Amino acid sequence: EAFNANVAAAADLNAFIVTTPDAALEAADKVDADRAAGKDLGSMAGVPIGMKDLFATKGVQTTAASHILEGFTPQYESTVSQNLWDAGAGMLGKLNLDQFAMGSSNETSYFGNVTSPWRKPDGSNTPMSPGGSSGGSSTAVAARLAPAATGTDTGGSIRQPAAFTGITGVKPTYGRCSRWGVVAFASSLDQAGPMAHDVRDCAIMLGAMAGFDPKDSTSLDLPVPDWEANLNSDMKGKKVGIPKEYRMDGTDAEILKSWDDGIAWLKDAGAEIVDISLPHTKYALPAYYIIAPAEASSNLARYDGVRYGLRDLPDGAGLQDMYAETRAAGFGDEVKRRVLIGTYVLSAGFYDAYYNQAQKVRALVAQDFENAWNECDVILAPTTPTASFGLGSLSDDPLTMYLNDVFAVPASLAGLPAMSVPCGVNSDGLPLGLQVVGKAFDEQGVMNAGLAIE
Ligand code: GLN
Repeated sequence: EAFNANVAAAADLNAFIVTTPDAALEAADKVDADRAAGKDLGSMAGVPIGMKDLFATKGVQTTAASHILEGFTPQYESTVSQNLWDAGAGMLGKLNLDQFAMGSSNETSYFGNVTSPWRKPDGSNTPMSPGGSSGGSSTAVAARLAPAATGTDTGGSIRQPAAFTGITGVKPTYGRCSRWGVVAFASSLDQAGPMAHDVRDCAIMLGAMAGFDPKDSTSLDLPVPDWEANLNSDMKGKKVGIPKEYRMDGTDAEILKSWDDGIAWLKDAGAEIVDISLPHTKYALPAYYIIAPAEASSNLARYDGVRYGLRDLPDGAGLQDMYAETRAAGFGDEVKRRVLIGTYVLSAGFYDAYYNQAQKVRALVAQDFENAWNECDVILAPTTPTASFGLGSLSDDPLTMYLNDVFAVPASLAGLPAMSVPCGVNSDGLPLGLQVVGKAFDEQGVMNAGLAIE
């Protein structure tokens, strides 16, 4: 009741699509029962968490914030959410997001915008974007509606909302967390991860989420290290790379200043700072906006009015009409834009010119990082080129919106672990985040650097 009252009081934030506090209470009760029975408690025992509504949850509506999935109640549980329940966590509810995780501002949800709990202190009370696509997750954590939440990151959707709301978010190496039961956006990029207040909470939660899963053919068959036990903010002997190509036009001066602050903090923690070059950085974003829509257009073909959720079947209509009507009514504008772009770049006449080229660029971006690891252990950069913006201020300008992901997308294309860690507020009183990128499988190095900044 108290939780539902809090969510109701924060209704203008619109973070939750449904609440399930009974499930969280059950997990709390189980802690007492297990303790009384002398059983070992899991690493997340009794912790109530929010679940991005992209994870299939058995018996609880799962929508990806799209009308086309409204009313869809899975008969199965995603591996990541099951792992969290097995570690003792309980679900507070399903969190709002950009529709099918496509967006950077949480303005594409069928269930309405999510609003950040942050306001500029100038009295204007402008509703600010919590970032996207995991904006329900960032808002729920920042507004203290949940101590932690799951997110997913295809091209920045954990890191950018974490930066916009002053919380911590970790995208692990591609394959660390199973994609089984996570509504697919761009399968070669999608990766789940934790969003919470600090590095330690993220380390604990990621430990519970991660692990090999035979049901996901791209799952990493590697042991899950004890990241929390090995957290260490001493950077002595570590080299931190500063990529010169990230000093881009259009990046806010205060963001550049926060980057310098981060460099100074890591130096204080004992790190050696080295200048590095990632020469293909500027091609990463255009390549992402070909590859991600291409995969999305293929993945979203399954929403046909037959298998899941919505079916729009006008009187006397045939099969093709049903597909067309269901998709016209069920998908939002941004989703349609992505499907159209994706279908175009995969079409016989344009495949070589766009999709194939983008795949080559992706390989070059990954190679840039491989070369960089000869010179440094982790890379430090801003998470975003600007702080949060007012809701509605960019919604008519998809290209500027896409630019928000410019610093996040390279690590996604390369499948590398990366995180955003809060680094203070700008002169508007809005939070800023710094990004740490690491070598494949080195979430530890990433989180240790994050801890040194925190
Ligand atoms: N904002 C990016 C996009 O719209 C990334 C989304 C994500 O990481 N899910 O594609």
